[in-house]
Amino acid sequence: MADVNTKYVCGICGYIYDPAEGNSEMEVAPGTSFADLPDDWGCPLCGVNKSEFYAVD
Ligand SMILES: [Zn+2]
Repeated sequence: MADVNTKYVCGICGYIYDPAEGNSEMEVAPGTSFADLPDDWGCPLCGVNKSEFYAVD
């Protein structure tokens, strides 16, 4: 159940995607939930795809 309050962490490098902040490097607006990221979005640090991320509290 991904929502705008759920952060996701990269399982490879530890980068944290915070939906409240979005991801300016990838032109993701603040308030975008992880589930709403485009399928071609990848970790801005190491480049892995969304399947390598997991939800954190
Ligand atoms: Zn990464």
